[in-house]
Amino acid sequence: MIEFRNLGLIEPILKAVHSEGYTTPTPIQVEAIPKVLARQDLLASAQTGTGKTAAFALPILQLLSEKTLNSQGNHPREIRALILTPTRELASQIGDSFSNYGRGLSLRNTVIFGGVGQHSQVNAIRKGVDIVIATPGRLLDLMNQRRIRFNALEIFVLDEADRMLDMGFIHDVRRIIAAIPKTRQTLFFSATLPPEIHKLSSQILHNPSRIAVTPPSSTVELISQGMYYVEKSKKTSLLIHLLADPKVTRALVFTRTKRDANRVTESLMKSKIRAAAIHGNKSQNARERALDSIKRGETRVLVATDIAARGIDIDEVSHVFNYDIPNVPESYVHRIGRTARAGNQGTSVSLCAGEERRFLSDIEKLIKKRVPALKTPEGLMADVKKKGRPGDGSGGRHHRNPHRSHRQH
Ligand code: AMP
Repeated sequence: MIEFRNLGLIEPILKAVHSEGYTTPTPIQVEAIPKVLARQDLLASAQTGTGKTAAFALPILQLLSEKTLNSQGNHPREIRALILTPTRELASQIGDSFSNYGRGLSLRNTVIFGGVGQHSQVNAIRKGVDIVIATPGRLLDLMNQRRIRFNALEIFVLDEADRMLDMGFIHDVRRIIAAIPKTRQTLFFSATLPPEIHKLSSQILHNPSRIAVTPPSSTVELISQGMYYVEKSKKTSLLIHLLADPKVTRALVFTRTKRDANRVTESLMKSKIRAAAIHGNKSQNARERALDSIKRGETRVLVATDIAARGIDIDEVSHVFNYDIPNVPESYVHRIGRTARAGNQGTSVSLCAGEERRFLSDIEKLIKKRVPALKTPEGLMADVKKKGRPGDGSGGRHHRNPHRSHRQH
């Protein structure tokens, strides 16, 4: 078995990795770390949860520390690595990872994102940092104001490139790339490679090494998946019922809309379930409070929209609930991948209303697996069954649904 010490990492980094409690490198780390240390460009398909942050952060820290420009110095520090990532949560987490993994080195990083005042960010840059982790909008603002320069940039990481496209950031990303030095090492991470992202990668990478871990269509074997057919109007009652199970120690509930996230959270709180919502309309402070409280165990249930949840790093999520079935099948894979991390078991439960069955069928095609239908709990049964559950012989209104025939339980 390959160990961290076989990857060419220096002692202070090995020590930091050890104190993070990592015993063995993940597959993407095994592949990426030696390549990044050898100064190669990288095109990596990997999603959150694979250990991709350490896969780029560890070798970047090492490369920068090998040639620490003037740490005692007469000259101010200059930015030598830039990591662009789509959300503020991801940026903060990546910043924390750099700080943790680099605690034995004398490198500095700072995080730049919108939604908060720029003053402290500008100050941090003025004092001098080696590594900047940024979301595109605010970074571009600061570049346009000439408050940040990348003359000494050596390494550029584009994280979650496909999500940048989904979130409408791709033009900002292109503008940033056009303004940074052309001679550099570039590491490109994207869970999927839609044509526009593929094109961008081919324009900015030089002879990249390709790495693909856990193809985006795969779902982790350790996740036990199930689904309930339920009327839309009964979903909240069913969710409350399911959350009463003491096995649900820490749950993420996904909703498609911000409105649903708020509505569901309120209903849970009325039922004395400790819950918080996280989505794009919340202030940065509110989002961080929600994240902290679930990490500390004060909140048991976090209700999130897909974009807000992307990349948030919460360990030991016992259950993921899909309050609705995502219409983009890859989102399902991303959602349920928030549980069963680091070798733990996890459970994913989907609440599927009649009109969502076609989404479920797309998901099953992608994951090449059936999501078994579970028996709807007593009490909610009648309401659910009344309308006819596929395969239950009750002949409800979805009788002609083409997906009905293959769904037995
Ligand atoms: P990421 O894919 O970068 O979001 O990482 C997912 C989670 O895995 C984070 O909580 C990391 O702290 C954790 N992690 C990263 N590398 C390892 C490793 N080699 N062993 C155990 N956990 C890890």
